[in-house]
Amino acid sequence: MDERVYFKGNAVIDEQLNMLEADDEIKNFFFMGEEGNNNGFALARIIHPADMSIMENAVKTITNEQNSAAAIRIADKTGRYRWILAVMENVPDSAEHKRTIKLSLNDIDSMLKMSDMSNGISSYMEYFSLMEYLMFSYDVFTDRLRIFMMGSSQQVNFYNGTLADWRSTMLANGNVDDVTRNIFDNLCDDFSGGSEVFEREFKMKIFENSQGMEWCLVKGKTIVDFNGKKHVIATMSKINPVNDEPQICFNLDAIDAGTDILNKRAITEYTKKLIASKPDKAVTIAVIDIDNFKTINDEFGHMFGDEVIRNVANVIKSSVEGKGVAGRIGGDEMFIVVEGLETNEEIRQVLRTIRNNVSFMYKNQPDKPHVTCSIGSSTYPTDGSSYEELFNIADKMLYLAKEKGKNRYIIFLPDLHGDYLRGNGMPKAEAYMFYKYKKIGVINEIINSYRANGGGSLSEAARKVQLAFSLDSIFVYQKHSRYWQRRVIIGDEDICEDNSYLNNKAYIADFTEDGIEVIDNIHFFERRAKETVDAFLKMGINQAVQIIVREHGDDDLIVSFNRNKQMSKWSEMDIVYLAILGNIFGMGYCDD
Ligand code: GH3
Ligand code: MG
Repeated sequence: MDERVYFKGNAVIDEQLNMLEADDEIKNFFFMGEEGNNNGFALARIIHPADMSIMENAVKTITNEQNSAAAIRIADKTGRYRWILAVMENVPDSAEHKRTIKLSLNDIDSMLKMSDMSNGISSYMEYFSLMEYLMFSYDVFTDRLRIFMMGSSQQVNFYNGTLADWRSTMLANGNVDDVTRNIFDNLCDDFSGGSEVFEREFKMKIFENSQGMEWCLVKGKTIVDFNGKKHVIATMSKINPVNDEPQICFNLDAIDAGTDILNKRAITEYTKKLIASKPDKAVTIAVIDIDNFKTINDEFGHMFGDEVIRNVANVIKSSVEGKGVAGRIGGDEMFIVVEGLETNEEIRQVLRTIRNNVSFMYKNQPDKPHVTCSIGSSTYPTDGSSYEELFNIADKMLYLAKEKGKNRYIIFLPDLHGDYLRGNGMPKAEAYMFYKYKKIGVINEIINSYRANGGGSLSEAARKVQLAFSLDSIFVYQKHSRYWQRRVIIGDEDICEDNSYLNNKAYIADFTEDGIEVIDNIHFFERRAKETVDAFLKMGINQAVQIIVREHGDDDLIVSFNRNKQMSKWSEMDIVYLAILGNIFGMGYCDD
């Protein structure tokens, strides 16, 4: 039975999309027969797999100033997917290490069915009003386009008519910048053809009486209703060019033919000018290279290789959207320049987004390869004062990222990478020796900084430990009664949050009296603790050293240092070092 009730509900989720709180509307709508506690319910389980990355991206792009929205399919309690508009904003006072997000879900199907949205349905208007978006709603079948804005108490209509009329009026009145005319045409085609998902940036006059042209970003999506009819919904927002000299990036001959991002000449010129202008804000650059691209070409053909390059370019472009500029500087090599990232944590956020989104590009598509990329970055003015200097450093960091096993980003840290840089990029064996002998230095530094300022930055310390011990991730697990909460200090935040393997007695019993578990090869547990093996494989981890930190009474902590690749056995010295570090991290965690 088609019970089309209008649905709207509120919840609080964490970054891994676990439901922390949900109102009754949500409980009734999605959870069949479940009473009471839905804490920790994984939203990912009911989001349509094809829409997961959109949702993940939306979560990543929320800032304290800007909320974020995504149109996604969610299965209701009958298991049927419904189109839902998810609007998210940060819960302002959520703890630093555990960001929580306010989530509002609005049933798009029912929204679209309401012929006139202005008649007092304030419940969802208030969300739109926060968004400063223009909304596009286009019915492919009837060729009716509506452009409107939701005010706090009313809807303001800007256009209501056919797409063709709108298009020709816009062009006749000179409202679209000539240089981006073809992108505007593409947008109109997206509407009329009902493109599944699209994103277009172009320059236009937003309102007839606007002063000048603005750069606009239109993001849209086509919904197919139960009668097979297509309806396109899109939002348009203003985007800010990165500096006041937009002419470099926006000429058509500056665009790389194969992708849609700037070509090498344009991005290089742009970056050089930007740095030469000695800006007040920090300027971060990063060189990004697709891993094992030759193999992808060999196994899937050149045409598919081209598609991979285009998709990676898109991921990179949307990761710096509104913050910076992306370009292609070689076959499988791209480049970004972003202004105003003042801390390593902010840089990390951008680079992590790129790394994760590239790695998730063909998720759930078993016939496609797992594409990953490596990234090296440096920042003006801390790391260098000229383009050449900065590029050289970023390029070396990229090289180092490749050497250390690919699929990672390396932000230049003078203390840690200074020698490597001066060595002009060491051959593999030497680089390995360098970090091997640096280990004790890294530990010393962390202990000293702990003594000096009661902890220092945990994530900064963790980066160094990661490099010194060739780790892929570092987790801290904290036990709350039987539930283990995982905090990702380093690594992919998006993988498998089921930590119940830590409750397995057979597994925990394996920790030595000292509280240390050394895993040289996860398959060692195959017979004794199968679920541990499964959990590790799901997380992509093959080796680990785990330390129980027991000073906290019932509040047990486990620090887990992990490697994704299978390397030789952990050396005795590494185990000792990591045991010390685990205890320091455990203390740091509690001090946070
Ligand atoms: P690594 O992980 O070290 O980066 O290995 P890789 O295989 O990616 O090697 P590298 O980056 O050195 O090689 C890039 C290859 O990309 C070389 C060339 O065959 C291929 N290539 C360059 N431009 C294009 C293009 O436009 N389309 C396709 N399909 N392939 C390209
Ligand atoms: Mg490559």
